[in-house]
Amino acid sequence: MRTLASQCEVCRQWGEAALCADCIARFATPLPRCGRCGLRLALPVAVCGACLRDPPPFEHTVCVADYGFPWDALIAAFKFRGRPELATVLAGRLRAAIAASAAPPPQCLLPVPLAPARLAERGYNQAWELARRLAHALGVPADAQLLWRPADGVHQAALGRAERQRNLVGAFMVDPRRRGELAGRRVALVDDVMTTGATARAAATALLRAGAAAVDLWVVARTPED
Ligand SMILES: [Zn+2]
Ligand SMILES: [Zn+2]
Repeated sequence: MRTLASQCEVCRQWGEAALCADCIARFATPLPRCGRCGLRLALPVAVCGACLRDPPPFEHTVCVADYGFPWDALIAAFKFRGRPELATVLAGRLRAAIAASAAPPPQCLLPVPLAPARLAERGYNQAWELARRLAHALGVPADAQLLWRPADGVHQAALGRAERQRNLVGAFMVDPRRRGELAGRRVALVDDVMTTGATARAAATALLRAGAAAVDLWVVARTPED
């Protein structure tokens, strides 16, 4: 017997999953993107002009969709309205995007950490909620303790692009006792949204400096260029 146990989070249709097949087809269809930074591309080329000129420290970006309807609402509910259970839906779509991508398999998944004050305020790190589900599904270890974010100065959202980058210099560090665990390994950084990429750049740079062989980025949504 089929059970119609759940309502689609987007269109409210009753069905078997938290995101119905119609909404997945409509909102999670893969589109041509830069393989390096995840930005939408008008032409099916591998890498965008910006990444050719100034390659980011991460090698591949996988994302489900642009940050916009309905992902903005789902992520806001997941992150700010205390609905961590939405991680299952979001991680499921991200897993499908990873499977459809050419990104090489990582040896470890690392959530982009929150600063301690933010973690205390929210009660959970949304990136860890995604990373641990992906790790379980893919059979890859995930680690929330390896990469640290010791302090958070100003809210990133309140800053412009150049200020964000400056604010993030030195924002991340690898646990100094565990640097050896990164040596020569490919890791995937997991987060909910990639906005300018400043956070991802800073985190990836810290991982490469600590000896990681390569860093990839797995995010649910990518903010389009303005
Ligand atoms: Zn739906
Ligand atoms: Zn790019």
